[in-house]
Amino acid sequence: MTQAKAYAATSATSGLNPSVIERREPGANDVEIAIEFCGLCHSDVHTIRSEWGPAKYPLVPGHEIVGSVRRIGAAVTGFAVGDRVGVGCMVDSCRECDSCLEGLEQYCENGNIGTYGAADRRNGDSITQGGYSSSIVVDENYVLSVPAGLDPAAVAPLLCAGITTYSPLRYLDVQEGEAVGVVGLGGLGHMAVKIAKALGAEVTVFTTSPAKTAAALELGADHVVVSSDPAQMAAAKGTLNAILDTVAASHDLNPYLRTLDLDGALIQLGLPENPMPSVDTGLLIRKRLAYGGSLIGGIAETQEMLDFCAEHGIVSDIEMVTAAQLDQAYDRMVAGDVKYRFVLDNSTL
Ligand code: NAP
Ligand code: ZN
Ligand code: ZN
Repeated sequence: MTQAKAYAATSATSGLNPSVIERREPGANDVEIAIEFCGLCHSDVHTIRSEWGPAKYPLVPGHEIVGSVRRIGAAVTGFAVGDRVGVGCMVDSCRECDSCLEGLEQYCENGNIGTYGAADRRNGDSITQGGYSSSIVVDENYVLSVPAGLDPAAVAPLLCAGITTYSPLRYLDVQEGEAVGVVGLGGLGHMAVKIAKALGAEVTVFTTSPAKTAAALELGADHVVVSSDPAQMAAAKGTLNAILDTVAASHDLNPYLRTLDLDGALIQLGLPENPMPSVDTGLLIRKRLAYGGSLIGGIAETQEMLDFCAEHGIVSDIEMVTAAQLDQAYDRMVAGDVKYRFVLDNSTL
């Protein structure tokens, strides 16, 4: 075992505090990563504060990990010491079920093994601990290559926010000229804007924050709709082919369904603590709309997304924080006061 510095929560109200965790010695197929940066995802907040049910404390969150390879196991073929690599939201899966065999490990029928808070079936059911730590050991099949030429700190959020928005845009096969709506301009939302624009879409941002209008246009959005303004919502009626909903709190989807055109689709990405109000099935039926959900992306698709972002010069817009600022950063994220992703400088642990 190797000791790693970390910031952990010990209860739903403890906040994050300095701790030391143990990492396994790299096995034959493992890569040991010295973590340089880790993005702060709203899922970290939901989990640490037990908003999705009781978390397994003590718990170190973080699943937008970028670092450099420090040691490799004897059978590792894809990575060498010194390579810049990433780890996203999962560190393993069964590798045998239909989903895993199709490269859809996130939908593993036996449950993907999350980067934190999951029982690690291949490693004695120990509880996985995430990226707010100085190192991590991961099977090479769940490690990504970070393309050269991109700012590594700003790449970190691609490992969750990037793939979570890239995957449904590809699944919906968004084509050049199609109209895509993005609800909520936070970590996921701003990546959705950048990726949808790079795919050639015409992008409409729906925000609850009128102050974000100029920033949304600067990010590349073609239109901004302040969702609390009925006149602006009415003007957007029937204009969109697809919507990604990235809001972290419960809200009514029906006003957004009305902005879809015939055969449009709304994909739910945000997973709020409290249930969402029900969807008006009449809206779905009268325009043959689809309402679905999507979970991160598979490993091969995550690598494809990183390469796509490198090709298009896309990274996240970030604000660096020190370990001592983590609690304050969470409060600011919940208040919507971030442009658009906090990234932990792991050298401050
Ligand atoms: P975030 O950075 O906090 O952004 C969420 C945005 O939602 C806010 O910036 C805000 O945008 C909007 N919002 C509107 N009302 C809100 C309210 N009452 N409270 C909070 N936000 C509100 O969060 P994120 O990291 O992008 O994550 C968004 C959601 O996606 C979370 O629920 C997270 O757990 C989930 N998630 C899902 C997956 C997946 O695989 N499906 C992956 C990662 C995260 P405006 O100010 O523009 O309205
Ligand atoms: Zn996440
Ligand atoms: Zn599986």
